[in-house]
Amino acid sequence: MKFLSKIFGSTEDKQADGRTAFHPSKSCPECGTKLAAWDEDGAWHCPNLDCPARVRERIEHWCSPEAMNIAGADKAVVAQLVGRGLVRDVAELYSLRLAEVAGLKGRGKAFAGRLLEAVTASKTREAWRVLHGLGIPQLDAEAAMQLGRHFAAVDDILAAGPERLVKQAGVSDAVARNIAYWYADNVNRRLVRRLQKAGVNFKTAPG
Ligand SMILES: [Zn+2]
Repeated sequence: MKFLSKIFGSTEDKQADGRTAFHPSKSCPECGTKLAAWDEDGAWHCPNLDCPARVRERIEHWCSPEAMNIAGADKAVVAQLVGRGLVRDVAELYSLRLAEVAGLKGRGKAFAGRLLEAVTASKTREAWRVLHGLGIPQLDAEAAMQLGRHFAAVDDILAAGPERLVKQAGVSDAVARNIAYWYADNVNRRLVRRLQKAGVNFKTAPG
């Protein structure tokens, strides 16, 4: 059957890392959008920002140890939270209820209590983690820390404009442009305001 599969291709070749490889002519299995972009490493990307796969990616990144470090919010839990419509963006993590989390498959009240505690604890994380957690392209932890040393708050960084970011904090033009581009989007501005309202720390520690 090797010959046939070569002609027709396989839409779902499982790769060693568990990701699924897709052919260029195929659509996203989650939202049906035509897939266009690939990484250098061959991973596919759905161009639809509202695609559940991308929503999960943004929340996974926010919760990861490199960003807000929310223990218990692993891939499987995030998949359930998004799949059930309980969390549509990172700000909604902060309005999760105990009963909602306890109702997740294979989890219970004890897990739910721990997860919500971890979510609450993340409100007092260092501001560079918040900035990095937003998932702005090329804004890695190092660049986020560097920016934090030169500005008093995450919202100051977001609103500064690319020239000031480069001049004042010495970040690359690409990072500065990506920050400005990200913050020019109303959806992202609203997200920032909602995170502030939820009590997430935006103030950088001086020095
Ligand atoms: Zn998609």
